[in-house]
Amino acid sequence: MNQGRMNAIAAVTNFKPISEPLNFAETSATEIFGSNVFGDKVMKAMLPKEIYKSLKKTIEMGEELDPAVANVVAQAMKDWAISKGATHFCHVFYPLTGLTAEKHDSFLTPDGKGGAMAEFDGKMLIQGEPDASSFPSGGLRTTFEARGYTAWDVTSPAYILENPNGTFLCIPTAFVSWTGEALDKKTPLLRSLQSLNKQAQRVLKLFGKQTETPVTCFAGPEQEYFLIDRNFYFARPDLYIAGRTLFGAKSPKGQEFEDQYFGAIPRRVLACMMEVERELYKIGVPVKTRHNEVAPAQYEIAPIYEQGNMATDHNQMVMHTLRSVARRYGLACLLHEKPFAGINGSGKHLNYSIGNAELGSLFDPGATPHANAMFLVFCAAMIRACHKYSGVLRATVASAGNDHRLGANEAPPAIMSIYLGEMLTDVFEQIKKGGAKSSKNKGVMHVGVDTLPPLPMDPGDRNRTSPIAFTGNRFEFRAVGSAMSIAGSQVALNAMMTESLDFIATELEKKTGGKKSLLNQAVTEVIQDIMKKHEAIVFNGNGYSEEWHKEAEKRGLPNFRNTPEALPALTTKESIALFEKYGVLSPREVESRQEIYFEYYCRTIKTEAALAVKIAKTMILPGAIRYQSDLAATCANLKTIGKEYRSVALDEVTAKLRGLQDAIVALEKLCEKENGDAHAEAKYLCDKVLPGMLEVRKWADELEQIVADDYWPLPSYMEMCFIK
Ligand code: ADP
Ligand code: MG
Repeated sequence: MNQGRMNAIAAVTNFKPISEPLNFAETSATEIFGSNVFGDKVMKAMLPKEIYKSLKKTIEMGEELDPAVANVVAQAMKDWAISKGATHFCHVFYPLTGLTAEKHDSFLTPDGKGGAMAEFDGKMLIQGEPDASSFPSGGLRTTFEARGYTAWDVTSPAYILENPNGTFLCIPTAFVSWTGEALDKKTPLLRSLQSLNKQAQRVLKLFGKQTETPVTCFAGPEQEYFLIDRNFYFARPDLYIAGRTLFGAKSPKGQEFEDQYFGAIPRRVLACMMEVERELYKIGVPVKTRHNEVAPAQYEIAPIYEQGNMATDHNQMVMHTLRSVARRYGLACLLHEKPFAGINGSGKHLNYSIGNAELGSLFDPGATPHANAMFLVFCAAMIRACHKYSGVLRATVASAGNDHRLGANEAPPAIMSIYLGEMLTDVFEQIKKGGAKSSKNKGVMHVGVDTLPPLPMDPGDRNRTSPIAFTGNRFEFRAVGSAMSIAGSQVALNAMMTESLDFIATELEKKTGGKKSLLNQAVTEVIQDIMKKHEAIVFNGNGYSEEWHKEAEKRGLPNFRNTPEALPALTTKESIALFEKYGVLSPREVESRQEIYFEYYCRTIKTEAALAVKIAKTMILPGAIRYQSDLAATCANLKTIGKEYRSVALDEVTAKLRGLQDAIVALEKLCEKENGDAHAEAKYLCDKVLPGMLEVRKWADELEQIVADDYWPLPSYMEMCFIK
């Protein structure tokens, strides 16, 4: 038996918790929650009243930060961090790789007398200067001008991360070039929120609902991931280098029983999840649900939604924590969108709404949606936005990993459409015909068990095949990949919504001329107009069906099947204008992003291809040849002693080995070609190299089905997914 399997079985059967069991009776979850966050409670206790008030204004009202405040805050933050055992502080930032980056600096400074003292002032809090030459900048920063700046994001609280050998203070920051151009995921998100508020307030004003609290976006990302034994992980170079399996025959049992979904969580996995949750509680991430997912060894963790910028930082922490805690339990966390072919991949449903504490969600219909004109206006804005900028939204979820998922019949199709549900569709239909009278009753769903209260039916009944679904008080954007930052899609959604709200506010202002009495009529007209132009994006049927693909084409909805097809939408005239007009990204910033994403795509595929060749040549081929040689020896032996022998197995292995060898040679040849710019290169890699890899894989997987188990060098799908 292969060693990886032996070790994995031992790890599963001998599993003993490594840390003290969590005792929530001793330390309640509420006590743990936020205990490592420099949050409101700590700030209130540690900051002078005036400073606290000023800082709060910046955080909650978006007012400019008073530089005098920074020094005082820095002092308090340092004292708090040191009391928690921190020796270092670190500016955390989110480069375009989608990962989290951190640069640590010690608090210690020489005191000039041979000793040292702890130092941390406002300047160190506000601004950092990591050597950033190796982060992608797409030409925004030349290598000799390697400086990038990190700037304190006041709106996302600092926190402490623990390590067995000490703790350190983490400060969320934006990352920009010395000319102020965005090099990260956070900067455009913060910018997009400002313009969203401005345009949303114009609409709110017409309804007499303007608020002092800014309108912002909310996000609730449901994170899917796989957990497999670490012994398998390290026995598979494709997993630990590329994050996904490049080879692997289908397991006789896959997910067809659906016995995994919502099933009991295995003990070791549950132990791991609980520690993940405890760690996340400490740093204030409000994780709420955990459950098994559809595929074997696949799970989901979801937080309670939060303000978009915070939710984004928190999701980065979720991914980081999942990876690091899994290690302590002898597990490997796979965040790749498609670690295993043939079973479900992982996505990240981004539940998105806009609003604020005063207003709640502006996508919340209230009791009778038709009467709730304001709600309908915001919904119409979303419909218009998604139709007008569907390409932009699609581009934000384009990646080499997510390409394996979108458009396959388990994840939303690559065609962007909105599912509204029966009730809302009905309301909009009526408005289109001349004004809504009654909304289809919300209805009460009976569950058939008398002791349960009747559950109100979700007006946005679930349609899992839709990429954008209205789910009661929010839109669920399901095309985001599991490994991606949720910043990009929010930036696009915010900018698109901003433009739509700007359009609607202008129309309504024109039509009413300031007269309140004309508002209802004006709203009806604007919605009618929007539905006429943009209802093509609404689709309530089965998104996986062949008919929909034809229908969508007739409706003129784009179908970008892969990253090279999808990314150009970022730099169309409309897209550039959208981001520029609302100060979200300058044309140069958009172009540099597109360039980076193309390059990143190319690097990913090239690495995978090189890896496929290496594994095929140095692991799979030798294993199969050894088996072939054994079979040949057996035949020869039988022949010498005059026994009858059959060479069926030998013939089969020999034929497939030949196929494999030819496919490897062909792939190597494909990999040699250079193709000019990143876009052309990406297209070539997608159209030629990926199929070349699949051809190698086809032969390898067929061999895996016939070569003796003890000759096969890679842990199998069956082992990885079911030994747990
Ligand atoms: P489901 O699996 O049924 O979609 P989950 O409970 O797993 O539901 O996830 C739903 C997510 O949507 C949660 O993170 C939840 O907090 C979030 N959510 C709920 N209401 C809103 C809202 N108004 N805006 C944004 N996110 C929301
Ligand atoms: Mg969901």
